[in-house]
Parts: sequence; C-alpha cells; structure tokens
Amino acid sequence: MSSAKSSILLIYTGGTIGMMKDYTSGALKAFDFSQLLKNIPELNQLDCTISSYSFERPIDSSNMNPTHWVAISDIVAEKYDEYDGFVVLHGSDTMSYTASALSFLLENLGKPVILTGSQLPIGDLRTDAKENLITAIQIAALKKKGKAVIQEVGLYFEYKLYRGNRTTKINAEHFQAFASLNYPQLIESGVHLTVFNEYLLPQKKKLGLKSHRNMDDNVAILKIFPGINKNVIDAMLGTKNLKALVLETYGSGNAPMEEWFLERLNNAIINGIHIINVTQCSGGAVMMGHYETSSRLKKMQVINGKDITTEAAITKAMYLLGSGVSQDLFKTVFETSLRGEMM
Ligand code: ASP
Repeated sequence: MSSAKSSILLIYTGGTIGMMKDYTSGALKAFDFSQLLKNIPELNQLDCTISSYSFERPIDSSNMNPTHWVAISDIVAEKYDEYDGFVVLHGSDTMSYTASALSFLLENLGKPVILTGSQLPIGDLRTDAKENLITAIQIAALKKKGKAVIQEVGLYFEYKLYRGNRTTKINAEHFQAFASLNYPQLIESGVHLTVFNEYLLPQKKKLGLKSHRNMDDNVAILKIFPGINKNVIDAMLGTKNLKALVLETYGSGNAPMEEWFLERLNNAIINGIHIINVTQCSGGAVMMGHYETSSRLKKMQVINGKDITTEAAITKAMYLLGSGVSQDLFKTVFETSLRGEMM
C-alpha cells in the first residue's frame, strides 16, 4: 500500500447484504447506509476513507436491468477521478450479469470496481456480509507504487476475488455462492491477501476511462435440450427485432444434426441474427468442428463463444449491438476477448 490513504466509494444497489434483522419483529429491513460506519465499527480500522452512495430505491437484484447497469457505470465514471476504488454492493442473484455488463461498459478501467454481496443479511449473527464487505474494500484500496493493483471489474465472495465477467452463481445456499470455472481466482484471502498478479488484466498505460451507455436488449438465450421442437425454435427465432441469440449447446458446442433445426439456424443467420454458441456445461469451452455435431454450425458462421459464460455472452451481445459495431464485424469482435472474458 502507498502511504496516501485510498478513498473508496461504496455503491449500494440493494440485495440481502443491505438488510438488517429487526430482532423484535424478526423481519428483514433495509439498512440505512448513511449509518454504515456506526453499524460496522470494524470499517474504521481500515486504512482508507469510505464514502457511500445508495440507489434511491435499493432493489433485489432480480429486478436489475440494463438501465441499472448504466446507472452504476455512470456513477463510477462521474466519480472516477475522486476515488481510488469502487465497491458495488449488490444482490447475489444477478451479480455475475452486472459484473459482466460493467466490464464492457467501463472501457480502459484503471481502477478497481469490486462487486460483493452476501447470502445472509449484514445484521444476522452468522452473516457472511461483514467479511465480504471488509475484504472487498481492502481489495479496492490495494495499491502498489501508487497505482491500483486491480484495474478491472472483480467479484469478491467468500475469500476469493474473481474476474467479474468470468463468474457464475452456482449455489443459493452455500456461502461459496460463485465460481469462475474457466479462469483462476485473482486474489485469495487468508491470513494475508494473496494476489495472483499473473492473472490480472495488464495495467493500463495512459488510456483514460471510456464509459459506454448503450445496451441493446434485442437479445435472447436459448438452452437446447433433447426433444426441443420446431415450435420453440420458431418462437424464439421469430422474436420481433431479435438481433442476437446466445445458444446454449451441449458439451464442446454440439447441437442436434436434424435438418429442420440446422436450416432454421442458417436462415436466421442469413436474415442477420447473430447466433452465439456457448456451452451449457459449467466449465470448458466450445470447440466448433471438433465433432460432426458442431461442424455444420461452424460452416454456417455461428459465432464461437469459446469459454465465455452465458452471463458474459448475453451482456457482451447487448454491449456490441449497443455500440453500433457493424453487422459484418460483429462475429470477429465477439470472438475477440475485450475485457478478459474469454480465451
Ligand atoms: N435475492 C437477493 C438478490 O439477489 C439475494 C441476495 O442478495 O443474495 O438481490
């Protein structure tokens, strides 16, 4: 850490982490974030200054949408020069989507934006919220030779910092609610914080932050299953204004070889719909052409999602469509890693 204290902005969007139990009634109620330091005196021991900003109406993350993502990204962009790091408190349910979206919206990010939340409310006796919050702040405050150690969007949960756009929520019960199956953790919190420097995104040179504001929601996700029928495919591909479809396929990117299925996908592509092949497995990558069941997809110019998560794929599609990338370039740009979201 450099000698100058880091200044951190906590952005509270909602979710379980911000709840307190009213021990007389037993009900959960929203926590007053202006009282943060009073309620969590441990925060005073951190070697940084903490300010907080709360959504006017904190929300359960199931209610998150691209407008909220842009709102969070706008706050970071507006306050970028004032703070050394940002911690976003967020419900865990859709945290991986928000983390992925923010990674695309905040181009050339040179400071940490760390999302965290908890499985139990901050006021609960057995809460995981305090550790998650305190360590997320510590990570956001980390500096080496005056520069932020983390210069990307991270997600901190249960002793691990992950690259945000590599994560997925895997458990609704365990404290270890997230996994990053295709990319190693960036930091592990034990007695010390161990930073795995080799896995961090490279330090930004002189490029300034470029924040984006357009996400196009004319996208969809289709998880195939044995027995999927024409009506389902037609309904999906016939969706009004559909521009991109994330197709969750089997294993390393395999799909049925039936002619009616392949023909429909091919026609959709000819009609300008981008089809992105991602695996429905939790880990591993799409390898189009590896099996016969994916070689036709490859030939018809289905986009190779490689080892991207569904959360990152759908938000990347929204971002690229919103950024106005040309129809011809979409495939090439999608298949390129923009923020470390894919191999
Ligand atoms: N339903 C909550 C949310 O995602 C769960 C949580 O906060 O972990 O907002």
